[in-house]
Amino acid sequence: MNTAANANLFSRLFDGLDDPGRIAIEQLDGTKISYADLIARTGQMANVLVSRGVKVGDRVAAQTEKSVQGLVLYLATVRAGAIYLPLNTAYTLNELDYFITDAEPSLVVCDPSKAEGVGAIAAKVGARVETLGPDGKGSLTDAADKASPEFKTVARGNDDLAAILYTSGTTGRSKGAMLSHDNLASNSLSLVDYWRFTKDDVLIHALPIYHTHGLFVASNVTLFARASMIFLPKFDPDLIIKLMARATVLMGVPTFYTRLLQNRALNRETTRHMRLFVSGSAPLLADTHREWSARTGHAVLERYGMTETNMNTSNPYEGERVPGAVGFPLPGVSARVTDPETGKVLPPETIGVIEVKGPNVFKGYWRMPEKTKTEFRDDGFFITGDLGKIDAKGYVHILGRGKDLVISGGFNVYPKEIESEIDAMPGVVESAVIGVAHADFGEGVTAVVVRQPGGAIDEAAVLNGLEGRLAKFKMPKRVFIVDELPRNTMGKVQKNILRDTYKDIYTKK
Ligand code: AMP
Repeated sequence: MNTAANANLFSRLFDGLDDPGRIAIEQLDGTKISYADLIARTGQMANVLVSRGVKVGDRVAAQTEKSVQGLVLYLATVRAGAIYLPLNTAYTLNELDYFITDAEPSLVVCDPSKAEGVGAIAAKVGARVETLGPDGKGSLTDAADKASPEFKTVARGNDDLAAILYTSGTTGRSKGAMLSHDNLASNSLSLVDYWRFTKDDVLIHALPIYHTHGLFVASNVTLFARASMIFLPKFDPDLIIKLMARATVLMGVPTFYTRLLQNRALNRETTRHMRLFVSGSAPLLADTHREWSARTGHAVLERYGMTETNMNTSNPYEGERVPGAVGFPLPGVSARVTDPETGKVLPPETIGVIEVKGPNVFKGYWRMPEKTKTEFRDDGFFITGDLGKIDAKGYVHILGRGKDLVISGGFNVYPKEIESEIDAMPGVVESAVIGVAHADFGEGVTAVVVRQPGGAIDEAAVLNGLEGRLAKFKMPKRVFIVDELPRNTMGKVQKNILRDTYKDIYTKK
């Protein structure tokens, strides 16, 4: 509950700071930034934003490599009452054109090497351009260094926007999810409690900060708790294992955990100082969960969220963290499973589409009122598009995105069910099941399987292994063995790429 007079996320984060000298951020070069420093720097940056014409409610778009100054830019934008719009660093100029013309920011911050290209796009919407490089240097910080640290935080209401994050857009165009001050603050405060964050925590921050996970979950939770974070420019398994000796929490995507498991230095001793490993943004294989527990003695805590909703569910801090499940709805969040066609609420253990409601759920898609309307039920529940079920104990399970559902011969086939069977076979690392156009069946169930190095598994062995374990209509028509699955930077398997790769296999003459 917000009791502050001002609902600005920045005020909620920093008003009433009782120990300003406490360290908020530590960098690899040993630089330490206290809470007081951080606030002063955001003041300087907010003054620069205002001097560049950024007004309350304006968008500030940023495509910059991860840096503390990038985080300061986010906080300063919010402090100035403007709306922060981070952009994936992988986006090309062509893609940036869409985001910038759609969002119409008044300021765009980009890497110095892209200033010219971005400048041409920004000019179309009358936006100014400032630069910020991975070393924290650029026209933006040059100006901020000279600016006053004094800045009066702009008062905002709970429902005013603090950020717009574009969805990754694997189906159709990316949409801008509008997130309010209270969406962000309430969710982070809830996680501080749920995950027992205190000022003694030290988070290893190795996630990108253009996505909800690294920007909001990792950073806001740490700052709300008055804890500190070790800010890494990127994921580096050797370094992370070393840092565990003095850190307490790691937040990661599943690929962090699979890659850390490949490192022989990971063991009970090297993780002894840690109290919590959180995973999310993509499914953590149950095998990875078990292997992690066996190697380190820590059960990874898996949670489920999305750009539009912040975090929805989490495995418990105390109590069983179930491999393959994403836990219970967070306090204040309601979750239910419905029939995708009729919207009827389904009983426990029944598969359907997951819907959520709560203070965490976004305000709609930027300039897409019609699209927004179709994604919400009349009673305010947001239709996540994720397929799943709630088990008898109340744990939520995710079975994949609705768009990944395969319909073969008129039957619904849930990829996760087949993937779990294949993943459990000896010699298999992981698998992805997709639907591919098929003349007889509409879609043919197709499995793409990653074999263990030196493993002998092949198509026939996978099919034999599934024989008798799955109903006939769920059996893959073809199995392809590959070295790895295509993943995006958040560790999500890109099934759209697989569907494209295999699109002709049943139709090609
Ligand atoms: P994004 O908006 O990029 O954060 O992606 C959100 C989507 O990631 C969700 O709708 C889910 O499909 C997926 N996701 C996030 N966390 C998990 C998880 N723990 N297990 C399975 N899928 C997840």
